[in-house]
Amino acid sequence: ASVFAGIAQAPEDPILGVTVAFNKDPSPVKINLGVGAYRTEEGKPLVLNVVRRAEQMLINDPSRVKEYLPITGLAEYNKLSAKLIFGADSPAIQENRVATVQCLSGTGSLRVGGEFLAKHYHERTIYIPVPTWGNHPKVFTLAGLTVRSYRYYDPATRGLDFNGLLEDLSSAPLGSIVLLHACAHNPTGVDPTIDQWEQIRQLMRSKSLLPFFDSAYQGFASGSLDKDAQPVRMFVADGGELLMAQSYAKNMGMYGERVGALSIVCGSADVAVRVESQLKLVIRPMYSSPPLHGPSVVATILKDSEMFNEWTVELKAMADRIISMRQQLFDALKSRGTPGDWSHIIKQIGMFTFTGLNSEQVAFMRQEYHIYMTSDGRISMAGLNMRNVPHLADAIHAAVT
Ligand code: PMP
Repeated sequence: ASVFAGIAQAPEDPILGVTVAFNKDPSPVKINLGVGAYRTEEGKPLVLNVVRRAEQMLINDPSRVKEYLPITGLAEYNKLSAKLIFGADSPAIQENRVATVQCLSGTGSLRVGGEFLAKHYHERTIYIPVPTWGNHPKVFTLAGLTVRSYRYYDPATRGLDFNGLLEDLSSAPLGSIVLLHACAHNPTGVDPTIDQWEQIRQLMRSKSLLPFFDSAYQGFASGSLDKDAQPVRMFVADGGELLMAQSYAKNMGMYGERVGALSIVCGSADVAVRVESQLKLVIRPMYSSPPLHGPSVVATILKDSEMFNEWTVELKAMADRIISMRQQLFDALKSRGTPGDWSHIIKQIGMFTFTGLNSEQVAFMRQEYHIYMTSDGRISMAGLNMRNVPHLADAIHAAVT
């Protein structure tokens, strides 16, 4: 007997559950395109050389101790993280208007930011794109916000529903919070152009909509850290306020170390000080203080120009491999004469392709070809390599014919 005997079995997480099912499949040809984690051409997880080097340096430093970090995390890491996303010459940083706290990767940053807003901001509604990363609505609802949606993706064009987006943001109540994917939108791989970003910015500022950027892929979309940060920097350059959730999971391969940061760009330095004091009150009862190892590694790399450069080279290599997989998959479908227009595979950017395959086709490919993806037809391009692209192309071909 158990006092918990009445507890129902919960369903698997829709994204992480794909890997659970994949692991149970004994087929030698199986491919996991579910979770967004980078894989090498050999299909192996990658620890960056520069990360290994930073870890060695930390291990060999006898002065290092394991004391608790402050509630807000490693101060040096916070400064470097803000600099990385907003730019070294960012006026907001120079004017000390940015409050940054180290959080548990991107997810923890979103959660802390969400709770801060639910407690202190006058408008509790956050607008998220359709579709979006599946965890967004859950994180923000549990943080105490009301979640509503804005149009983003147009299945007909497999591109941005820009008019729908502008219409929905125009009719959002004044001051509403708007979740924006900083780059490499997950799951669609569709980003606004810089011109469209500028229009979004003007509309949002004219309606006092508060931007909450989710930056989980800086450097992963284009291979350039600065280019991928450009939309965010446009919103900082206008002097307005915003929230920024950063993750080093993908761009530094730090997934399991849970390294992230929440920055709140404020209107003035004294507001930033008070905001930070309130962030501490959100964090302290949640997990007291964040972990030490991950941010120490990241700070070691970011503060050393030679290591920083080594990182950008390794990051670009990851981004380039993903881009080349797009081309290979596109070519493979073309050579099979697979019906339909597949140009979105090379147009979309970042970790994922939103294939346009429906849930029956996804189920068919799992059943017949042992290929695993989320039921919305999203595939992680990082799971592809020269050897498994033909098998995937065969499966897609069979699924649509
Ligand atoms: N936001 C988006 C859009 C993501 O794709 C992810 C990772 N899949 C995250 C946030 C958070 O990831 P993490 O908590 O591992 O940094």
